[in-house]
Amino acid sequence: MGKIVSATYDENMNYIKDGRIVPPVITVKHLVKNFGSHEVLRDLSFMVRPGEVVCVIGSSGSGKSTLLRCINLLETPTKGLIKYKDETKFSDEAGGSSWPVNKYRTKVGMVFQSFNLFNNMTVLQNCMVGTRKVLKKDKKTSYDLAMKYLTKVGMAPYINAKPAQLSGGQKQRVAIARALTMEPEVLLFDEPTSALDPEMVGEVLHVMEELAQEGLTMVIVTHEMAFARDVSTRTIFMDGGLIAEDDIPERLFTQPKNPRTREFLSRFLNSGQIQAAG
Ligand code: ADP
Ligand code: MG
Repeated sequence: MGKIVSATYDENMNYIKDGRIVPPVITVKHLVKNFGSHEVLRDLSFMVRPGEVVCVIGSSGSGKSTLLRCINLLETPTKGLIKYKDETKFSDEAGGSSWPVNKYRTKVGMVFQSFNLFNNMTVLQNCMVGTRKVLKKDKKTSYDLAMKYLTKVGMAPYINAKPAQLSGGQKQRVAIARALTMEPEVLLFDEPTSALDPEMVGEVLHVMEELAQEGLTMVIVTHEMAFARDVSTRTIFMDGGLIAEDDIPERLFTQPKNPRTREFLSRFLNSGQIQAAG
């Protein structure tokens, strides 16, 4: 695989699009999350600009899922600031927005490791329920959106199937289609291929690669190092609840600055998942 999405960054890791720095779609500032006395996220700041594909890598327990869950307000942060465009979604200084959280989640969607499909509904119903109930689209519009995105992920032939009749890879493609029907500004993925049998990983990564090429803004937690290297415009390495390194993948994967990044990546080098720098 060669580089999928070409991207330009300035020296401060600001994403440059059409010659300028575009305003961020997500802003995270000094984010802290405690579970009891356990500080899981420890003062974490970053921004995501439209068009960026940010892969988040790091050991199990480093706080990757908690970070995505805080952005999506599935967890309430302990401290810090989370903004969607100009709108404050969480602030410890009060003044958070009154936007209903389910409306916010149509703009900042999430795809989970375990799919989270409704097992009692068909594929088509799973892909219509959000646009019908949350976005209040009429039946025809909702159906058209479902078919558009099910076609995109190659699952249109399965509209009448129930999730139990599908393979893991097919379920995850339906879950991605369902997230896309809301036409979000950003899609968050939490290890979307980790629950899949190895032979099904490729079909899901392929869908995500296409979305990246089309310019969808994504934040992807993944252990697929070759995917992160080839598809992300920027890779974040998390370690112990902190961003230990944040760089373009061309540098992060070949000349990591932080010894912790080097140590983490060497495990994947040893397992043959990524090649050593030439
Ligand atoms: P990652 O996704 O990088 O594996 P997580 O964000 O899931 O890491 O977890 C980071 C740390 O937070 C872990 O030590 C985990 O046990 C802890 N943690 C996560 N969720 C909860 C929770 N709901 N209650 C208590 N501890 C939690
Ligand atoms: Mg996780």
